[in-house]
Amino acid sequence: MEPHFVPIPVGRCSACDNVWYPQAAVCPRCLCEETRGDTVPGHGTIYSFSEVHRGASSRFATATPYVLALVDVPPGLRILTNIVGASPERLSIGCPVHAVAGVNVEGEAVLWFTLAEDGP
Ligand SMILES: [Zn+2]
Repeated sequence: MEPHFVPIPVGRCSACDNVWYPQAAVCPRCLCEETRGDTVPGHGTIYSFSEVHRGASSRFATATPYVLALVDVPPGLRILTNIVGASPERLSIGCPVHAVAGVNVEGEAVLWFTLAEDGP
């Protein structure tokens, strides 16, 4: 199945124009409550990653092994996420990645990333 690249839903502050993920009702920089939902393009680079073989709790046991990563996304976001669709041997710091829609082991919609070179 072809990956479906998605924009990243973010919060944007009406007072200071700060952008953050995941969305929250209050700006984490200036604590302004006048915020709105927005999106940024789902393109980033791997800041750091690790292959997880033993989940932090039993609810992740069926998901292992998986790649946990920090992905830098302009304009200054650093997102904790999973890298999917690529073996860890193909990953390195600075690799370009794209956001994709995923579903976690509990059936919740989540934002994951995949190697950009695997996309269109
Ligand atoms: Zn703000």
